Amino acid sequence: MAGEAQADCLFCKIVEGSIPATVVRETETTVAFRDINPQAPTHVLVIPKAHYPDAAGLAAAEPSLMADVLREAGEVAAQDKVDATGYRVVFNTGVGAGQTVFHAHAHVLGGRGFEWPPG
Ligand code: 5GP
Ligand code: ZN
Repeated sequence: MAGEAQADCLFCKIVEGSIPATVVRETETTVAFRDINPQAPTHVLVIPKAHYPDAAGLAAAEPSLMADVLREAGEVAAQDKVDATGYRVVFNTGVGAGQTVFHAHAHVLGGRGFEWPPG
């Protein structure tokens, strides 16, 4: 059922604590942890504790939870002091866009310059 932990989901396991992660922030509804393969000096993933496969599904099912994720993305940027210089929040959605973990997550990237359009 939507929102329930999935036994085969890597990020549900990080929420449960059965797979370790470098957690930088946690709220009642979200966890933020450093990406294992960082693409920038700050590269943090913000996830809802509840399982939704992608960002659009999360936003449709639980808009306030999506708002929690976006607010936490801003808090992570402030905590890592990349908010003043600028940072990027990315939701890869679907295999063609590079999504590899099908538990909704915001990438928060900062601490270097970024190109536009993205690759
Ligand atoms: P996606 O490609 O789905 O947008 O992002 C998934 C992200 O999860 C990737 O940037 C990848 O490096 C990260 N990742 C994959 N496995 C792990 C893990 O076990 N721990 C952490 N902290 N990050 C992971
Ligand atoms: Zn999950």
